[in-house]
Amino acid sequence: MYTKTQLKQEKPSVNRITEVCARFADEITKIPGAEKTMVCFQCGTCTGDCPIARFSNSYRPRQIIRMVQLGLKSKVLSSPRIWLCAGCYTCTDRCPQDIEVASVLRVLRNLVVQEGFIPSVYRELASNVLDTGYAYMIPEMRLKKREEEGLPSLPKANLENLAKLFDLTGLSKIL
Ligand code: SF4
Ligand code: SF4
Repeated sequence: MYTKTQLKQEKPSVNRITEVCARFADEITKIPGAEKTMVCFQCGTCTGDCPIARFSNSYRPRQIIRMVQLGLKSKVLSSPRIWLCAGCYTCTDRCPQDIEVASVLRVLRNLVVQEGFIPSVYRELASNVLDTGYAYMIPEMRLKKREEEGLPSLPKANLENLAKLFDLTGLSKIL
């Protein structure tokens, strides 16, 4: 989870993203997962049920959806809040309009990543996956403890295939 200072510092530069209000919503709704964005009627169920919104004074998935509907491209793509979604899909399960709210969030983040911005915490997670096959570096001490407890050793990832995947998706370049 970000601290307030991190959120301020990590505001991405979206100067290269042209704000064309009318086209933005159109662009978003063509991307799989975000097709139904325009049918949101702002009931607020997604925000009411979101575990992140519960602990944040500023994270409101309903508002993010509204910003997309209004075509506020620069504003929504430069908002650090789009990175706070935990991807739990509660909002998607509960939306009365069948909007895949979590997928809309993913679509927005992907657009920002395509512009070359990744918050440092995600960059670190991706680098860990590339280097070890695991999102988190597992301390030696914990591995030893597993051994002592008679647990099987952790499976090894195919790092060569992972590297290929990172290349194919363009993630290596961005990292
Ligand atoms: S639950 Fe669905 S319809 Fe209601 S505000 Fe959220 S996205 Fe819009
Ligand atoms: S998927 Fe994201 S926006 Fe939806 S409820 Fe979970 S944390 Fe909130």
